[in-house]
Amino acid sequence: MAETKRDYYEVLGVPKDADEAAIKKAYRALAKKYHPDANPGDKEAEAKFKEASEAYAVLSDAEKRKQYDQFGHAAFDGMGGAGGFDPNSPEFQDIFGDIFADLFGGGFGGGFGGFGGGFGGFGGGRSARTNQPMRGASVRTSVRLSFEEAVFGCEKEVTVNYREECADCHGTGSKAGTQPETCTKCKGQGRIVYTQQSIFGTVQNVAECPDCHGTGKVIKEKCPACRGTGYRTTRKTFKVTIPAGIDNGQSVRLSGAGEPGANGGPRGDLLVEVVVSQHPIFKRQDVNIFSTVPISFSKAALGGPIRVRTIDGEVEYEVKAGTQTDTKVRLKGKGVPSLRSKNMRGDHYITLVVQVPTTMTAAQKAALKAYKEAMGEA
Ligand SMILES: [Zn+2]
Ligand SMILES: [Zn+2]
Repeated sequence: MAETKRDYYEVLGVPKDADEAAIKKAYRALAKKYHPDANPGDKEAEAKFKEASEAYAVLSDAEKRKQYDQFGHAAFDGMGGAGGFDPNSPEFQDIFGDIFADLFGGGFGGGFGGFGGGFGGFGGGRSARTNQPMRGASVRTSVRLSFEEAVFGCEKEVTVNYREECADCHGTGSKAGTQPETCTKCKGQGRIVYTQQSIFGTVQNVAECPDCHGTGKVIKEKCPACRGTGYRTTRKTFKVTIPAGIDNGQSVRLSGAGEPGANGGPRGDLLVEVVVSQHPIFKRQDVNIFSTVPISFSKAALGGPIRVRTIDGEVEYEVKAGTQTDTKVRLKGKGVPSLRSKNMRGDHYITLVVQVPTTMTAAQKAALKAYKEAMGEA
């Protein structure tokens, strides 16, 4: 995205460590203030409303928030995530359903008619949307990386179970030549209304139809290819671009590679979590690398050049005369590239550890004895 975007936390006016309730509360206040219904024809209010809604869509979703915290707005660039914000998409209807039901009324019991302008038809509560397009669920998988692959980035392939519409029945689940029939129990509504007596009088309740599980349709003759499920599962391989600097436990999102949506809704995403192998000598903490480098007593005392292994290969380091054991040295810019900014790199910290020889030749012993005498030791 070329335009500069405000930080989502700033948009909602909450601290970075705000909890779910605080985020929801902040968004609710902004949504109330800037909602198109409350500000007809006010373009600025509409823009503010959209900005806040987008921020809330990301920060209210634990997975997306994690990605945003790690990668910033770049997490969603070109991935069709929050960048392609569309308040009418089923995903957002889902996210906002609760809040709008709360703000503007909704649900069957209350009998409100949803709200009109702006978004056009969120309607009632969740159960009213059973026949509406729904986004597919996200699928998770993992991929193992070497220490270096995580530092420098790489291309990987992951193979996952991939559900697709059954080609024989085109997803209806009905045998070729037959069609799903309208459920007789709920007359295709997908839900049934029943009345109950309570201390407040007669109350109407709504439940999902047990015969059709809310779809409004029943399959009389199942498609043999998919046994009536409407889907078939194959193994599918995806290429994953692992960004340089990714760390153990972080995920890459492949948009649209998850479970298929329902009623024409979009597919969910595939989240590929990286598992980074330990390195025999390097340890990593965020963008910094740590290692221990043994040096001889004479090098520590007299100083001189040593070769130090870094992620970029060996570099020369000049040990200062009189270096004590456990001295820590920073090799600037030899750490891990930052995920947020390609041109920034962490540092490599080495700990110089003076080694005491465990075996010595006669000549070495004689030299050390002479040293001892020169130091005036008994
Ligand atoms: Zn089928
Ligand atoms: Zn039914």
